Amino acid sequence: MKISILTDNNPGGNTGAEHGLSYFIEHEGTKILFDTGQSDLFLQNASLMGMDVEERDLIILSHGHFDHGNGLPHLPGGKLICHPGCFVKRYRTIDHTYIGLKNSRDEIAQKFDLTTSKAPLRVNDSMLFLGEIPRITDFESQQTSFSFEDGSPDFVADDSAVALQTEKGLFVITGCGHAGVVNTLEHAKKATGKQRIYGFMGGFHLKKRDRQTIETIHYLKKNRVEHVIPSHCTGLPALVAFAESFQIQSVRTGDTYTF
Ligand SMILES: [Zn+2]
Ligand SMILES: [Zn+2]
Repeated sequence: MKISILTDNNPGGNTGAEHGLSYFIEHEGTKILFDTGQSDLFLQNASLMGMDVEERDLIILSHGHFDHGNGLPHLPGGKLICHPGCFVKRYRTIDHTYIGLKNSRDEIAQKFDLTTSKAPLRVNDSMLFLGEIPRITDFESQQTSFSFEDGSPDFVADDSAVALQTEKGLFVITGCGHAGVVNTLEHAKKATGKQRIYGFMGGFHLKKRDRQTIETIHYLKKNRVEHVIPSHCTGLPALVAFAESFQIQSVRTGDTYTF
């Protein structure tokens, strides 16, 4: 399994960075572009890394926020899987700035071979798009700083992830983690029928050293997760708490992780 960091918040040696996420995932012969960041930076970085993102089987969009999906218009097309709720108009509650996708569902569907699914969707024998993630814990996804056009709260129900099945257990990759790390991993267990978690990587959406961060660390330790790799939207106080419990390193664009 190989995961290449095309876009993330920290720059590598000669690759740029932005607030966003785009990973290129290669696992058992299948290649997935997971998110696209907020600009064409993922394409620039891919070419600096000597990679061609056109050599892929499909694109998975983790959720409908600009920093994950606004790179899409820079692609010529191809297969795309996401949750149907990705195309809603959505805003930051505090100042009403628009944070949804630049393109409408129609515009995306014209260009891409689009499949939307709330249910988990199997990509192949060893990869699963998790679909909508039930919010089951009492310490995650309890508040939101986002709202819909009519002002009602937006808990980002479209937030999903991808689960890779390996001999050592599940390796789950998340975009922004709005659903919560524990909710995401419990759903991955249910959807795949596998109980062991080998790794978890991506945006954890943990900001402070609060109850949610502490409970998340406790859960990952209890489940003996071997690779814990927080990036993108994970805040510094939360990263410090993770560094005390796991061997973490900062994820930078241009990096390639092989497991
Ligand atoms: Zn987001
Ligand atoms: Zn994000």
